[in-house]
Amino acid sequence: MAEKITVIGNKLAVPDNPFIAFIEGDGTGPDIWKATRFVIDETVAKLYSGGRKIEWVEVLAGEKAYKKTGEWLPEETLRKIKEYIVAIKGPLTTPVGGGIRSLNVSLRQKLDLFACVRPVRHYKGVPSPVKEPDKINMVIFRENTEDVYAGIEWQEGSQEAKKVIDFLKAQLGSSIREDSGIGIKPMSEFCSKRIVKKAIEHALKNGFKSVTMMHKGNIQKFTEGAFRKWGYELAKEDFPDCVISEDELWEKHGGKQPEGKIVLKDRIADIMFQLVLLRPSEFGVIVTPNLNGDYLSDAVAAQVGGIGMAPGANMGDFVAIFEATHGTAPKYANQDKVNPGSLLLSACMMLEYIGWSEASESIKKAMEKTISSGKVTYDLARQLKNSVELKTTRFAEEIVRNLDS
Ligand code: NAP
Repeated sequence: MAEKITVIGNKLAVPDNPFIAFIEGDGTGPDIWKATRFVIDETVAKLYSGGRKIEWVEVLAGEKAYKKTGEWLPEETLRKIKEYIVAIKGPLTTPVGGGIRSLNVSLRQKLDLFACVRPVRHYKGVPSPVKEPDKINMVIFRENTEDVYAGIEWQEGSQEAKKVIDFLKAQLGSSIREDSGIGIKPMSEFCSKRIVKKAIEHALKNGFKSVTMMHKGNIQKFTEGAFRKWGYELAKEDFPDCVISEDELWEKHGGKQPEGKIVLKDRIADIMFQLVLLRPSEFGVIVTPNLNGDYLSDAVAAQVGGIGMAPGANMGDFVAIFEATHGTAPKYANQDKVNPGSLLLSACMMLEYIGWSEASESIKKAMEKTISSGKVTYDLARQLKNSVELKTTRFAEEIVRNLDS
């Protein structure tokens, strides 16, 4: 009988038949969700010989929710995701004039999913624009709740913008052109430390050798610069025995990384874009404020074949939603055409999160085998010579056929 995932102490307790919530998504969402669910269920059944099985619980969001309930993101959905702790979702349409800025942003805010996590690695056979995509094995932790994304902004010419400009001039002596729009960039110690902590925990658990804080602290001293400072403080406070700074690496250890310790370093945002391209093997886990992470995630994903294959998750302390990183691609809806890779790899992250790592590994291997054999969906087929274009469902069936026995 199915049971709920719970939190015991500081850990997830996952039964063999856990309930997991899913949002199928809009546009091409149902196509990629059907394929993803098929691959997960077949893999789990095969690997655990019936000893484990996921009990999927549908929760509504997006167009399907709006049609059925008149709401884009019903309270019931939020309540159930909290209750089941782990969820997976397809892409959602951003309603135009629906009173909600973005469903994805609402989900993150209402469930306090403060970490956007994007693993980036190359899968054999996937076309890449760089010479050595195999050298890329990074996980980007992007802060999800603050920075210029906090949504505190006022239009040029508005009363509010004028008030702020006047205040800054009169009270703080800062002069700003009258015809300026104003945006506020808050970054707190609490939110900076909790994202750096999550990134370090991930690095320790998954054998990464370094965590790099990417920031623009040379210019934005009291936001991005403080992010860097708080990150180093957090490492000293919470991980004194297993994290060393790059300075300590050189000063105390002659540049040789001691066994069992990870190095916490920082790089300025602009140089970071060069480094991930020129010396990718120097990076493992990367942790960034919101805006830097937004840019960097897509840029690094492009190095390994683009957004169609990029998995992601939004995570809080325990509640986590795993999701395709691309949008709904509405022009391909119901055509059984698009690549389910992004959602499928997000499902692999989910399996790892619940401790079923061998299922995740099996799917990734089978997917790599399928792509390497040239059997791919349209997006990869148009970049690969001598490939065979498959429909979404056929691609999923081929992955299942390629699962190791
Ligand atoms: P999009 O849906 O990501 O599609 C842009 C292009 O990316 C598609 O036309 C297609 O390229 C390619 N693509 C996307 N998904 C693919 C897949 N699974 N397999 C292969 N190729 C894929 O971006 P958009 O057109 O800007 O946005 C459409 C809607 O999605 C909007 O309502 C937007 O708000 C929403 N959105 C949702 C999320 C989310 O839920 N996380 C994220 C982004 C956007 P080709 O045309 O070259 O074939």
